[in-house]
Amino acid sequence: MDKREIERIVRKEIVTGVFQIQDFLVVGNWKMNKTKKEVITFLDDIVNHDFGEKNTVVIAPPSAYLYLFEEKLRYSKILYGTQNFYPKDNGAFTGEFSIEMMRDFGCKYAIIGHSERRTIFYECDDFASKKILSCIQNQIKPILCVGENLEQRKHEDFKQFLVNQIKTAFSRIDKSDISKVIIAYEPIWAIGTGETATPDQVEEIHMFLRNFLVNEYGNDIGKEIPLLYGGSVKPANVKELALAQSVNGFLIGGASLSAQTFIEISDLLNGK
Ligand code: PEP
Repeated sequence: MDKREIERIVRKEIVTGVFQIQDFLVVGNWKMNKTKKEVITFLDDIVNHDFGEKNTVVIAPPSAYLYLFEEKLRYSKILYGTQNFYPKDNGAFTGEFSIEMMRDFGCKYAIIGHSERRTIFYECDDFASKKILSCIQNQIKPILCVGENLEQRKHEDFKQFLVNQIKTAFSRIDKSDISKVIIAYEPIWAIGTGETATPDQVEEIHMFLRNFLVNEYGNDIGKEIPLLYGGSVKPANVKELALAQSVNGFLIGGASLSAQTFIEISDLLNGK
């Protein structure tokens, strides 16, 4: 039996027992969903929930509903942010939502480079780098999404593709700011498909990314960058995924739309 197989069995054993190994960042990405009434109900359902002291809980709703988050979560520890923004304070950018507006609504996080922004809206790594710089300058935490599609996965060098996404996205910021960025590994083939990467696959890529970050940016910076996993995370698989090495949290799409399911995931990560 090799080391990975033993680790896999140990992980299975732990999942069935008491579970609380570290702090997690739990981020909900609502995408383009919900009506005003549904948002209010959701916020009323979560606002008094005890999410515990350790984990950080963040929701990224459609920007049109941020005013409700500001209003309802004023005295809550639940944080919120955007799925998209334009990296300028204001100006002639028809249809865009600015970084200044994010600050105005009390956003603390921003998702950047999500595969849907890349494939549907043609956002590239260079644009991600501008958004990251803008976040750093505005004390907003950027969550950079990277991930390969199924076709890329078939080729040996798909890991290099992830490295290139990160390197370009980091290209505009100072080395001293790199540890302020959060990276979410989101294999495109696992997003919204119901097909989750196995804990072994997640661990393999997270360990690869961690080694790359440490080698490229040094031990202090490389170890500090939180690495999230995203792709069909739900209550049934979150505990096992959380035990994969170097997983510091989750980016959750579909399962974050229900207050009950979102709470359940967070509670499981809290050992409840
Ligand atoms: C996402 O949108 O980032 C995501 C991971 O979606 P889902 O959880 O639905 O796969």
